[in-house]
Amino acid sequence: MDDRSEHEEFKKSCRLNRRWQLWVKTKTCALCGEVIEAYKDSSVDHIVPLSKGGKDNWSNIQITHRHCNQLKDNLNPLTFRFLNFLNKYLFKIKPRKINK
Ligand SMILES: [Zn+2]
Repeated sequence: MDDRSEHEEFKKSCRLNRRWQLWVKTKTCALCGEVIEAYKDSSVDHIVPLSKGGKDNWSNIQITHRHCNQLKDNLNPLTFRFLNFLNKYLFKIKPRKINK
């Protein structure tokens, strides 16, 4: 393995490790607020996208569901928050909340 691919491998393992640490710590999706049941469903999201000048460090990353992260990528932030709002408050109202 040459130096360059070794370096790539190292960066990749750092990224995996980072996702693992975030997932173990909270297990809660930063976008929808639901529990992330399985590690394989988790994804690391850059709060400020790297393409918009966000930093690749701990303060700019959060753990999310893989599908939430994809949804966020495909929608503009306002649309995403609106859909999230609908999902959270209208479609997933839990029975105990209605009784109160
Ligand atoms: Zn989510």
